[in-house]
Amino acid sequence: MIYCVDLDGTLISNDMSVTSFFETILKKPQLIPACYRWHHEGGRARLKYNIGEIYNVDISRLKFNLELIDYLMELAENPDNSIYLVSGSTQSIVSKIASYFSFFKEGFGSSIDVNLTGKNKLALIKKYFGDSDVCYIGNARVDLKVWEGTHSGIVVSNCGSFISSAKKVTRIEKVFKGRFAHLNQEYISNKG
Ligand SMILES: [Mg+2]
Repeated sequence: MIYCVDLDGTLISNDMSVTSFFETILKKPQLIPACYRWHHEGGRARLKYNIGEIYNVDISRLKFNLELIDYLMELAENPDNSIYLVSGSTQSIVSKIASYFSFFKEGFGSSIDVNLTGKNKLALIKKYFGDSDVCYIGNARVDLKVWEGTHSGIVVSNCGSFISSAKKVTRIEKVFKGRFAHLNQEYISNKG
């Protein structure tokens, strides 16, 4: 089975576009005029992209869904499974997070002109995986559009009505609570 995993709110607690923007301008306030210009010229996509190019993801500061990580590690032990990170966050951030975890084969993120959420995310999944069965793991209303076109799903949510909405559009295999914590130090140091 192919598993496609969303990032913001699913694998990690926060929205990387927001986190990377605020952390960057707090560190480098001289970039504020450039941020206005990027947003003016190319909207949110250009701003997200340019911030992503200069932002350094610090994995040790992010909070992860540890139960989901354990589950993905288990899935990866079966050679018939392949797992991808597919996120609306910008490509450079998605690549950095995907390459941190050995269970991800690859990471797909937003580009300067494609916001990889909802129907764009489904289109990418169809393009790469064709008619293969895909299980999509997500957490938000925008993910309903992805579940509508995928074989099955896993939901990360504490909200009963949202879980019911997801069950109306695809077969939901599993539900994880939206519970997030830092990776333990041992895990981080093992990664060198
Ligand atoms: Mg999400």
